[in-house]
Order: sequence, then structure tokens, then C-alpha cells
Amino acid sequence: MIPRIDVRGAIAKKQFSSKLNFEYEADGTLLDIPFVSFSSPVEVALRYEILENDDVEITGQMRFSLKGECSRCLSAAEQSFTAEIDGLFVAGESDGETYGYRNGVIYLEEFLRDGLLVALPPRLLCGTCSAQDGENE
Ligand SMILES: [Zn+2]
Repeated sequence: MIPRIDVRGAIAKKQFSSKLNFEYEADGTLLDIPFVSFSSPVEVALRYEILENDDVEITGQMRFSLKGECSRCLSAAEQSFTAEIDGLFVAGESDGETYGYRNGVIYLEEFLRDGLLVALPPRLLCGTCSAQDGENE
């Protein structure tokens, strides 16, 4: 489940920064690697801070694992990834660089989707192939 952030409620409680930890099932269609899928829910740890102008800064980490066939040798492969994510949510419309939020509530779906898209590797390699890959570089 992806939680919402109740900005208005947080401001009323004068709780201007807080942490969120949750897991959710990633949308497998985001993955563009043949025969590879998410092998666990995405683990998310976020920290948000409500600024004086009601903009909300969010930073954190996503962790996820992929498993399937090695993109090079087709043996079984599984690998975990961690990505840093951050974003700014402004009250009202998004201006393209920031995310917008309305009615005092932030929905994180688009933010997480964007973060995951940036973090997804172009291919999955097994231990042997990624070791060889490292030697070549
Ligand atoms: Zn391999």
C-alpha cells in the first residue's frame, strides 16, 4: 500500500517533518528487460519536510530486487538495487520540475513511479557476468 501524506493534518498538528516507511508491489510493466520480474515488494523509506510556503520536500530511498534470466548468459540471476529519490511538491499545479498536490493531500504514486523508472537497470546480470563486466571496465 502506498500511503498518502496528509499535509493539512500535519500542519494542524505542527508536525512539519516526519518519516514514512512502507512497501508496495511495483508495476511489472515498468520493467523493460526480457524474462525479468520484481522478486519482492519495493521497500520505501521517505522523510518529508513541510516548508513555510506549504511546499513539501521529500527525500528517501527505494530498495527493490529483480530476478530472472541473466541478460547475457541466460542463467538465473537475482540482484538488489537501492536508489536515492527526492522531489518537491508544491501546493497547486505541477510546473514540470516539481509535483503538484491539491486539497492538502500528497499522493506518492507518480513520484515513486518516476523514481523507479530512473533506478531500473537496463539489464540484469548474474554474479559471473557482472564480475566479468567489472573487469572489462
Ligand atoms: Zn550471466
